[in-house]
Amino acid sequence: MIFNTINKLHSELPSTVKLVAVSKFHPFEAIEEAYRAGQRIFAESRPQELLSKVKRLEEIRQNHPGYMSDIKWHFIGHLQTNKLKMVLPYVSMVQSVDSVRLLDAIQTWASANDLVVDVLLEPHVAAEETKQGFSPDEIYDILGRAAGEISTSEVEQIVTNPYSHIRFRGIMGMATFTDDQTVIRSDFSALSSIFETCRIQFPTLSQDFTELSIGMSDDYSIAIEYGSTMVRIGSMIFGDRV
Ligand SMILES: *Cc1c(COP(=O)(O)O)cnc(C)c1O
Repeated sequence: MIFNTINKLHSELPSTVKLVAVSKFHPFEAIEEAYRAGQRIFAESRPQELLSKVKRLEEIRQNHPGYMSDIKWHFIGHLQTNKLKMVLPYVSMVQSVDSVRLLDAIQTWASANDLVVDVLLEPHVAAEETKQGFSPDEIYDILGRAAGEISTSEVEQIVTNPYSHIRFRGIMGMATFTDDQTVIRSDFSALSSIFETCRIQFPTLSQDFTELSIGMSDDYSIAIEYGSTMVRIGSMIFGDRV
């Protein structure tokens, strides 16, 4: 079932769209099956769960060196700054950066560890009240500072990039939780236009800023119409979460 769904998605998705398999709440064995079908990028949303799967893999590798060596982990959940150390050493991307506070903490950690962390910025467009995320203007402000385009005053230009150890790779977003296609389309359209505005407004960043992570099990086909380059699919591959 997992094997067949992965194969089906790999053959059906346009070549411009990467599949991120959302394995949260599913056992390690499910990840192994998806990997055997050729899946390489997996996403988790809870630090402790990510860590226990990473440790499991390291354990296996003691007897089987190189086992699943090219697997990549993305983090897609709300990340508290005190949990950074559990997550950042193991992931190739944090998709769910939803506050300046988190961004600053990632910069501090990355700089101290002499690493560059790939991130997506998460705007808030869905109707739900509880959702975290940036306003479009906050995103343009962050990227403006990263591009060195905003000065603190007329005389004192910021010449250093405050996000020297962060690579801004794009935008991640979720549509409102609803069956109403009109609402979903309008959310994806808003996310897509934020993404395009960033690319146009900050040409010096646009070489890296290439990813629009939109679309989940129920709405990924619509997301692709709006320019998704990364779909995050969980339940369609692994079944209902327990
Ligand atoms: C759980 C989750 C998904 C996957 O959702 P499905 O509907 O199971 O495909 C995608 N993105 C984020 C941010 C999630 O938390």
